[in-house]
Amino acid sequence: MLAPSYQKLKDLLSATIDPKRILTNPLQTLAYGTDASFYRLIPKIVILAHTESEVIEIIKQAKSLDIALTFRAAGTSLSGQAITDSVLVVATHGWKSFELLDSNTKIKLEPGIIGAKANNYLAPHGLKIGPDPASIGAAMIGGIVANNASGMCCGTAQNSYQTIADIRIVLNDGTILDTANEESVNAFTKNKIVLIQEIENLRDTIKSNETLYHLIKNKFKIKNTTGYSINALVDYQDPIEIIKHLMVGSEGTLAFISNVTFKTVIDEKHKSCSLLIFNTIQDACNATILLKSAPVAAVELLDRESIRSVENDDDAPDYFKTLPESACALLVECRDNDLDNMLIKQLKVRSEIESIPTFSEYEFTSNPKQYYFNWKARKGLLPTVGGLRKNGTSVIIEDVAFPLPQLADACLALKDLFKKYEYHDAVLFGHALEGNLHFVFSQDFSNQTEVDRYEKLMSELAVLVVDRFNGSLKAEHGTGRNMAPFVEKEWGTAAYEIMKRIKTIFDPHNKINPDVLINPDPKAHLKNLKPLPESNTIIDKCMECGFCEPHCVSEGLTLSPRQRIVIAREISRLESTKDNPQRLADIRKDVTYQLDETCATDGLCALACPVHIDTGKFVKEWRASELDSNDKKVAAYIGSHMAGTTAILRIGLKIISVFHTILGTTIMTALSNAAHFITFGKLPKWIPEMPKGAHKINLNQKH
Ligand SMILES: Cc1cc2nc3c(=O)[nH]c(=O)nc-3n(C[C@H](O)[C@H](O)[C@H](O)COP(=O)(O)OP(=O)(O)OC[C@H]3O[C@@H](n4cnc5c(N)ncnc54)[C@H](O)[C@@H]3O)c2cc1C
Ligand code: SF4
Repeated sequence: MLAPSYQKLKDLLSATIDPKRILTNPLQTLAYGTDASFYRLIPKIVILAHTESEVIEIIKQAKSLDIALTFRAAGTSLSGQAITDSVLVVATHGWKSFELLDSNTKIKLEPGIIGAKANNYLAPHGLKIGPDPASIGAAMIGGIVANNASGMCCGTAQNSYQTIADIRIVLNDGTILDTANEESVNAFTKNKIVLIQEIENLRDTIKSNETLYHLIKNKFKIKNTTGYSINALVDYQDPIEIIKHLMVGSEGTLAFISNVTFKTVIDEKHKSCSLLIFNTIQDACNATILLKSAPVAAVELLDRESIRSVENDDDAPDYFKTLPESACALLVECRDNDLDNMLIKQLKVRSEIESIPTFSEYEFTSNPKQYYFNWKARKGLLPTVGGLRKNGTSVIIEDVAFPLPQLADACLALKDLFKKYEYHDAVLFGHALEGNLHFVFSQDFSNQTEVDRYEKLMSELAVLVVDRFNGSLKAEHGTGRNMAPFVEKEWGTAAYEIMKRIKTIFDPHNKINPDVLINPDPKAHLKNLKPLPESNTIIDKCMECGFCEPHCVSEGLTLSPRQRIVIAREISRLESTKDNPQRLADIRKDVTYQLDETCATDGLCALACPVHIDTGKFVKEWRASELDSNDKKVAAYIGSHMAGTTAILRIGLKIISVFHTILGTTIMTALSNAAHFITFGKLPKWIPEMPKGAHKINLNQKH
């Protein structure tokens, strides 16, 4: 039962939005409410919004009822920023329009477009969008911009903050600002005088405070997504430019993003990479410092544990297994539109780092097999660790950045920290050129001792990153619930006050994605942890990353593979704990259609899954396990009497076809619908495309 205010919201919105897209049943709210993070909140209502006018209506009605909203794109966020226990507004289907502008130098994109799709539109022109998260095959523009996501090559130069040209947003009272439209800007400036003044005040406050000004300038020299992009207040004078850039990395806490125009960047034609092995992690980090001024597109670090986790890959070179414990690899990429220039870049790399010995000789390669393996080794690290973890544990990926000169010491300090708290499976890798390191480890959240261990790790990590190395606690994955308690620690009180002020200016009643990014609870990162119960060996390794969703034919009709797994896990949890029989019954009521009957079981999801889960295979097992003994007897009978069964079907189809010829399509359709209705769906509906019974094949016929 919905609380009265939520019921009222649902009733009000049903007048303008198709009620089928306002979801409240326990199965759907859980399925749609889940994202890739290790946090869980279940929304009371999920609204699949299709247009900006629907979003405006949702925002206005929710405001009138004082109900909180959270916006969602692909749900691949890792820090708990795309979840809510209130209302989740999913803007994906129906948000796919794009437009190439100004001779392809710009592209305007709606928030439901997958990053890789945007790149597909640009590829024929040798162009791409700047942000390049490893999740680009699933993450969508809304989430990419709202998280200021970045990746291997974009660094701090080509992320959303740097490449955004324009944005269209809906504020918490339904006001629209379209920075590409002069009329909209003028109207906004006229109608939102107080808001504009507040932004100007913040800008001037910072500019008159030298310490704060330099703190902000310095902290954004490396990647930083902790808190708001307050560099907007020092980088720009014009309040509209400031608002535009503040939206980047705002994690859906300030406004809804209806579309974004990016300046496009060049996607170089020729690419080559090399895996350079160094004797120590210090050597690798020192080489990275030298490579900062070299013509490289990417420098990725893989520590010894990372290399070990991929050494059994069929394509891995034999020497991986014999590398010394202290070894460390750098994957260096050179790119250019001109082949000769690319070769010159490779030579420059060599000369730049010749003072630092490598463990072995190295070559650059454009050979597809080797090139692919090198990048696979790097990109596969998260899945590799995810796939090796114990069932029932979460994969945690942390995402910190350090000033480059500190990188070597910071790597060693991080390794000591993992050792101290016995995270023996931790691997360290990342975008070294940006001082951006990820560490991945598995974490059990099923008992308090383990939660305490995680808490200690996090509080010590905050001291290490902030106090000792002056780094960022979140480099590219966004603050979320995970780092919200540490924003003030990283930024200090003055900057944190500015951030709180920003939130209040745009969302005075804290109703737009509350508790994300700004959260006064010092233990917020330890609450609402996601249970990951064992369910079935086929799906137990699922990280709920969502990479499979774009490859699923039933996604949008019913559930995606990730959502099917979420539901199966919840059923397993409820069955074993027996703590909520009613919820179990409610979920089970819809599960046959949602999980089973609408799954094509084609296994396409496995192609995109980092841990190769074939959810279709799981659904087939589920199907078999759900059959009662009568069903099984019928299936066994059919299986052993195929010739007779097909003969009956052939004759049946022929009879139906004769009826069709006599009655005509209209009457036939009406009769079939009536039969379907009165048999409660037991008789399938007839459609004109239904085949006629084929002729019997004569196996003795000679050709
Ligand atoms: C395996 C894996 C690898 C990853 N690798 C990277 C990486 O290399 N680099 C990186 O930066 N990130 C990475 N991520 C994190 C994540 O994929 C990115 O942050 C991504 O940009 C999130 O996009 P999304 O579409 O999934 O957004 P969501 O998770 O749906 O939402 C993200 C945030 O954006 C807000 N939002 C969404 N749509 C809108 C809208 N229309 N208006 C306003 N706010 C909105 C949400 O409220 C939320 O706060 C990775 C994630 C996974 C699972
Ligand atoms: S099935 Fe694979 S791709 Fe899909 S959510 Fe799980 S781990 Fe990710």
